[in-house]
Amino acid sequence: MTQSKPSRREALQILAQLGVLAAGGGAMLSACKSESKPAADKKPADKPADKPAAKAGGCEDLSGLSDADKTTRTSMKYVAQSTKAGQSCANCALYKAPEGGAACGSCTVVKGPIDPKGWCQVWAAKKA
Ligand code: SF4
Repeated sequence: MTQSKPSRREALQILAQLGVLAAGGGAMLSACKSESKPAADKKPADKPADKPAAKAGGCEDLSGLSDADKTTRTSMKYVAQSTKAGQSCANCALYKAPEGGAACGSCTVVKGPIDPKGWCQVWAAKKA
């Protein structure tokens, strides 16, 4: 049997354990990058500590995130490019679309700019 996506309740329990909800859902800090495999190009990044992410939508800057926020991204298994058929941040109920022509949106759970093509383990279908 394959593992199914977590239910909304399970997602909230995970978030509560991480203290994400206690930190306040409205405070969205900027910056992000994928925790996916390192990009193929070997150019040095501006910040050597932050390895380059997939060039999905330029949403890879984690410089504005706290260590706790980075940990949340990792624990939620956020990636800038979804590999789940029919599931991406763009059609997730927790996604907030970018404004003013920006490439990256945001998320009520995962901090930092979110690529609309991304995904994490608490993906929840957006209601029509
Ligand atoms: S899949 Fe949903 S919960 Fe996960 S990062 Fe994307 S918008 Fe946020």
